[in-house]
Amino acid sequence: MAALKDITGQRFGNLVAIRHTGFKVRGGKQNTRMAVWEFECSCGERFETLAQEVKASYHSGVCPSCVSKRKAARTYKHGGVGTRLFNIWSGIRQRCNNPKDTNYSRYGGRGISVAPEWQDDFSAFRDWSEANGYEESLECDRIDNDGPYAPSNCRWVTRLQNCNNTSRNQFIELNGERLTHADFARKHGLTYSTLKNRINKGWPVSQLGNRAKSVAQVEWRGRNWTFSQLSEETGIHQNVLRKRILKDNMSVETAINLTRDVWELRRMRGR
Ligand SMILES: [Zn+2]
Repeated sequence: MAALKDITGQRFGNLVAIRHTGFKVRGGKQNTRMAVWEFECSCGERFETLAQEVKASYHSGVCPSCVSKRKAARTYKHGGVGTRLFNIWSGIRQRCNNPKDTNYSRYGGRGISVAPEWQDDFSAFRDWSEANGYEESLECDRIDNDGPYAPSNCRWVTRLQNCNNTSRNQFIELNGERLTHADFARKHGLTYSTLKNRINKGWPVSQLGNRAKSVAQVEWRGRNWTFSQLSEETGIHQNVLRKRILKDNMSVETAINLTRDVWELRRMRGR
């Protein structure tokens, strides 16, 4: 087996070999193990890769951070690099995508993502911004503080508006416990969008965390009902109610009225 060549401290362009971290074996064959080293880039990024990969192509760019920055810059070919808007876009991507970003824990680390259409395409972000009142004095605000950077969840606001929004954290209080939407969803094993959906549809707080949808009780006219009780009360089959409320996320009122409207329509037509 070939002896490990010590390249500690050697420089390859912007990269310096820091330490040997292991071997990668190609094709399962013997004697084809390749040394894996940790490298540090002049940009500060540390990463592991094959020593031979660095030797062969350090000049064309190996550091993942630099490669992605360059790729991002390339996606905007019309002079956006260095503009305020480009820096905002790049900052958003850094704090959502890069675990080494100092703000990552408050963004990517708690599930804040960047919409696919903005991920690698500055021009899409720029077009959206210009169509939505972007000015140099404004900041990009996420309407729902736990939601993604996406066209549907972003707007341009003044710094003051932004501060107000950030401090206006939304909480769910249940059984004496006060949780952010994101924490509540995590605790109850729901996806964030499922929880949001339930809130938007007016689900009672006591039901928001239901995992087994089929045992849910629903709140209507100030009390809780099982589906069979609700069915008895309204004359609507409980499977219909169940589907509308649990699957289609209708409010109880809407689910009931939908049938009543049909009955009413039939009654009028029958005349
Ligand atoms: Zn780098």
